[in-house]
Amino acid sequence: MGAGNFGDQVRIASRDEYGKVASAFNSMSMQLKRREELRRCLLAGVAHELRTPLTILQGKLDYLQQGGGLIEPERLLPLQDELIRLTRLVGDLHELSQAEAGKLSYEFKETDIRDVLERTVDRLLPGAEEKGIGIRLVNKAVRTHLTADPNRISQVFLNLLVNAIHYTPSGGSVDVLLQERRNQADEPVLTVEVRDNGPGIGPEHLPHLFDRFYRTDEARSRNSGGTGLGLAIAKEFVLAHRGEIRAQKSPGAGSAFIVTLPFDFGKLPPS
Ligand code: ADP
Repeated sequence: MGAGNFGDQVRIASRDEYGKVASAFNSMSMQLKRREELRRCLLAGVAHELRTPLTILQGKLDYLQQGGGLIEPERLLPLQDELIRLTRLVGDLHELSQAEAGKLSYEFKETDIRDVLERTVDRLLPGAEEKGIGIRLVNKAVRTHLTADPNRISQVFLNLLVNAIHYTPSGGSVDVLLQERRNQADEPVLTVEVRDNGPGIGPEHLPHLFDRFYRTDEARSRNSGGTGLGLAIAKEFVLAHRGEIRAQKSPGAGSAFIVTLPFDFGKLPPS
């Protein structure tokens, strides 16, 4: 294992202390193997995602150069688009890797989630209206204050709402529903549900949506500028709040993303 052969297993010949040590060794070896596989997958994913915009940039630059003569500024616009996409991808990757490594700092404080949602919706309204999509915020909770990092949690709602607007065709609608509930452990929680009446998400995709780079329709999403990292980042931020995030088919058609945040976060022991 010291030479990097993770996953090697030793034979467990007894049930005494030697057997326990051997079994602990085997499980450690498997965990190291899984981590190594994850690291390789991430590296392959990053290389793959970076290659596409770089190839496009190179192709376009070659084409412009071969044309000779002066280049009109508007012919540089597609290059700028690719650069913006690349910068966004690298920025998202940086944020996600920091979050996964537990290196992001959070400023937890008493936060009115309704207030955060109102501001996030206001920010997106002009763009949504331009696309002919209505956004409605429905608050059914009496208590909407809890301990959270307002910036990070607003980023979560922003990612969900941007997706909802993006994947919903013109004329559609997006609802944001705020409710007080109890989770499986019977603890009081606040749920934020972002529902749209877009095309929805097939059940086969639901378990993978929060994986890095996962897209249900790769070509379409890549062309329209998604990095496939928005939901992975949202998940990390929600987990840091000891909350949960999941997706399901919305009661109408379309998709529903549900974020659950514990009211007692401030009182829970540190993890
Ligand atoms: P992207 O930047 O591609 O949107 P995300 O991580 O935010 O990446 O989302 C991952 C994938 O989940 C998207 O590419 C899309 O296929 C799917 N998805 C996310 N939100 C919705 C939605 N509201 N309706 C339909 N599909 C969605």
